[in-house]
Amino acid sequence: MAKTPITVAYGDGIGPEIMKATLAILEAAGAELDIDVVEIGEQVYKRGIKNGLDPRAWESLARTRVFLKAPITTPQGGGYKSLNVTMRTALNLYANVRPTVSYYPYVETKYPNMDVVIIRENEEDLYTGIEHRQTEQVVQCLKLISQPGSERVIRYAFEYARANGRKKVTCLVKDNIMKLTDGLFHQTFDRIAKEYPDLENDSWIVDIGAAKLATTPESFDVVVMPNLYGDILSDVTAETSGSVGLAGSANIGEHYAMFEAIHGSAPRIAGQNIANPSGLLLAAVMMLVHIGQSDVATRIHAAWLKTIEDGVHTPDIYRAQGPSTRKVGTTEFAEAVIERLGEQPTVLNAVEYRETPKAPAFPDVPHKKALKQLVGVDVFLDWAPGKPDTLGEQVRQFSEGPLALEVITNRGIKVWPDGIPETFCTDHWRCRFRGANDAPVTPAQVVKLLEHMTEAGLDVIKTENLYTFDGVPGYSAVPG
Ligand code: NAD
Repeated sequence: MAKTPITVAYGDGIGPEIMKATLAILEAAGAELDIDVVEIGEQVYKRGIKNGLDPRAWESLARTRVFLKAPITTPQGGGYKSLNVTMRTALNLYANVRPTVSYYPYVETKYPNMDVVIIRENEEDLYTGIEHRQTEQVVQCLKLISQPGSERVIRYAFEYARANGRKKVTCLVKDNIMKLTDGLFHQTFDRIAKEYPDLENDSWIVDIGAAKLATTPESFDVVVMPNLYGDILSDVTAETSGSVGLAGSANIGEHYAMFEAIHGSAPRIAGQNIANPSGLLLAAVMMLVHIGQSDVATRIHAAWLKTIEDGVHTPDIYRAQGPSTRKVGTTEFAEAVIERLGEQPTVLNAVEYRETPKAPAFPDVPHKKALKQLVGVDVFLDWAPGKPDTLGEQVRQFSEGPLALEVITNRGIKVWPDGIPETFCTDHWRCRFRGANDAPVTPAQVVKLLEHMTEAGLDVIKTENLYTFDGVPGYSAVPG
């Protein structure tokens, strides 16, 4: 079999120890790999490279397109960029796949039947990092959800479920509040779910969904969600499974894929040969499936399960009063896995890996462009906290064409007209100008309105145009 080229980085902290252990197991199991080692992390940051990646790493990745990465230490402060965020966005790794399994009774956990795969959108949402301070009192962060971004990760979740013999895909969102952003994710989920009638699907509001995931994880199978919820909930599920040292993850894109443990570089236990290499090893198993070496992946996974079953445990999961029989270091654990290659677990479920889906091509669906019509503008003002009626009286004198002041809100709550005097107000006000019955307005009318307001001394800090798409409002209504 031809060797598959992959890029490998040993990382920082416990990275080198767990990578060495992982690669030893891969080699002993007969993985056909042509490994190109690159430097990332602390040493690279210290050389003044702000994203922590040696330029040669890019060259290597452009060639191999597959990255097995150990954790790195991200230096605090100093304008350094997160290497992981750089990798995800630069390589368009839109799906983060994190399987979490309980290995009860061999690893202590309150949830013996947990076998959940969290698939997290990886590039959008509140993680675009677009933040602004707008007034003395108020800062904002933009939450961006796109239709293609949602479509790709949701489609991947269904393809993953199908390829891995899973039964159900669940969507978690907060679209009772964020009707447009999380609403788009949810609608996309409902539309794509119809293309997979062989799989069950359901959706939960993320708060109750998270509570259920944390208390009855066995009722979930594959779970797909936007970036922030996925980030938080994948850590919750990993922690409840028994140890952060046990979970691996895959970051999947159309052209590249990156595999790593979910934990960090654990500097406090580095260099002591006590770290658990399992998270990175299970990430490497996912990598082997990705590059078409599913048989090797299956062999390694079975030998690893047998090692865990035999009670050969690193200190993070070792329990003297439990099923543990031998407390071992990182190297000895790897040796124990190698000794068991070819063996099967007797209690834990071995997995027969098949092909996992390559990132599904984004379907070129003929798309009818909606009629987009400008119908108003939200003008945001920095105005020292005062009486909403005073501001209302001042601002209502401004109008332009069909644009007339309709409502003023403060932190989203209506304060004019007919506000409640007790509503707490900051210095950040939104004045909504709209025509009656969504009458069309022109950009020139918006510009004129802003000119008049700024000439009158009002501090306009930003505006958001209000559009309808095929007559459907593309902006949230003001309740009350
Ligand atoms: P961490 O995951 O490194 O450690 C959290 C806890 O889990 C610690 O108690 C640690 O000892 C334990 N732990 C982690 N991995 C273990 C393993 N394999 N075996 C046994 N115990 C293990 O998180 P942290 O301490 O918050 O972060 C340390 C550094 O790692 C930081 O610089 C952070 O930025 C970085 N980090 C990197 C990545 C990555 O490269 N993907 C991810 C998360 C954190």
